[in-house]
Amino acid sequence: MNINEKLSLLKYNKGNESHLSVDDDVCMRCSKKYCTYICPADVYEWNDKKCTMTIRYENCLECGACKIACEKNNISWCYPNAGFGVKFKNG
Ligand code: SF4
Ligand code: SF4
Repeated sequence: MNINEKLSLLKYNKGNESHLSVDDDVCMRCSKKYCTYICPADVYEWNDKKCTMTIRYENCLECGACKIACEKNNISWCYPNAGFGVKFKNG
């Protein structure tokens, strides 16, 4: 079973507001961009032309890895509001 098949087993209740945010100006000066490849759900995508970060917060698994990986401490992270976010089948 690949990662996409595993992710398709999860349920999400998408809220209207993102629980994740970054400062694009800080990201612009970040050479490593760890967030774009450490996230298991592919939430972050950097657009080089526009110099903006797309955040697909509705796919977030709430693992916290991106917050730890960002060496510039540039990710504002919190859990989604009650009743929203990912729902795991077991646990
Ligand atoms: S690792 Fe942090 S500073 Fe770098 S691109 Fe990602 S959010 Fe921006
Ligand atoms: S908390 Fe986990 S799943 Fe959510 S954006 Fe960060 S790394 Fe991705």
